[in-house]
Amino acid sequence: MTIAPTRFATRIQAARQALRAADDIALLVGVGADLRWLTGYDAMNLERLTMLVLGREGEPALVVPRLEAPRASLAPAVAAGMVHLVTWEETDDPVAQVPELVRTTPITGGAESVPAARVPRLLVSDRLWASFVLRLQAAFPRVPFGLASEVLRGLRMVKDADEIALLRSAAEAADRVVLAIAGGRLVGRSEADVAREVRERLLDEGHETAEFAIVGSGPNSASPHHEASDRRISAGEPIVLDIGGAFSGYGSDITRTLWATGAADARPDPGFVGLYEVLREAQAAATAAVRPGVPAEEIDATGRSVIDAAGFGPNFIHRIGHGIGLEGHEDPYLVAGNREPLQPGNAFSVEPGIYLEGRHGARIEDIVVCGAAGPDVLNRVTRDLLVVHGT
Ligand code: ZN
Ligand code: ZN
Ligand code: ZN
Repeated sequence: MTIAPTRFATRIQAARQALRAADDIALLVGVGADLRWLTGYDAMNLERLTMLVLGREGEPALVVPRLEAPRASLAPAVAAGMVHLVTWEETDDPVAQVPELVRTTPITGGAESVPAARVPRLLVSDRLWASFVLRLQAAFPRVPFGLASEVLRGLRMVKDADEIALLRSAAEAADRVVLAIAGGRLVGRSEADVAREVRERLLDEGHETAEFAIVGSGPNSASPHHEASDRRISAGEPIVLDIGGAFSGYGSDITRTLWATGAADARPDPGFVGLYEVLREAQAAATAAVRPGVPAEEIDATGRSVIDAAGFGPNFIHRIGHGIGLEGHEDPYLVAGNREPLQPGNAFSVEPGIYLEGRHGARIEDIVVCGAAGPDVLNRVTRDLLVVHGT
């Protein structure tokens, strides 16, 4: 399963239209998710310049070091002839080639449409290294710079059917890893050992990278971004398992909370069961609120109100979710203050947590796509507390 080559033509066209609408000159896109989204090129981030120059018209150019050309020429948008390669030799100054490529696109387009006091800009990708940005600015001394996300974020936020299919495959793979860990031995093992198994299983399930494996046992379950440690997991305590990586470029990210009873059958205490019930209800309410037109912040507020009403408000210490796609965290962010309405094709996590510092905590996280009529939840593992023997 991959992204169909025709998608890249659609994306390049959409980016170009947005660039014209913004009345800016060109997009200068370095290595990263924007480049991959536009061309399918998954380049290495090197000190050598790789840059897509996408102007308002003309053929987009991909500037690459000579030694990367064989790989770059296989990128779908290059192979299909939508983007041409401009290679530079080890002793060339690649930044000096960019003005030449930009000049082939008219700097002032429809003069009448340019608002007064609004000078057309060059838009650089948000993650472009400062070492390139400063050299580019020196090469264009009179041109103002802006961020490519102004043009690209709105486009990348709406996932197409191929992207949703990849996100779903990523979620299904991560689901199987959660179930395998929940069904295996936990008691007596270190968190780090379980995390190592998570990473191995993510790779076995088709991920190309296993980016994180949070295993927070006992009091560590109250630390949202706990790093798996040497602590040995005991019977009669919770384990927050938050795992994910990249699957054909697209992120997986799931959290489930487990409780290992051990041989002595140490069941969850009523305090923890009560906390978990509140969390379960909050996560379900937030997910159910997903539909087109609802402000992103309202998903957060919906989950938070359930947690607040139960008195755990101060213990829910992060936003309820983040967008996901070619990056593990991207727009839209589901956080108070983000009034942007959800659109069909937005993909994001819904992940409330309740953390009682020094004691215990829990989190439930799914990846959800905003469908035309409501939420499309990609993760399928039960959201109940996973009470397991762990022996
Ligand atoms: Zn997180
Ligand atoms: Zn997560
Ligand atoms: Zn997440």
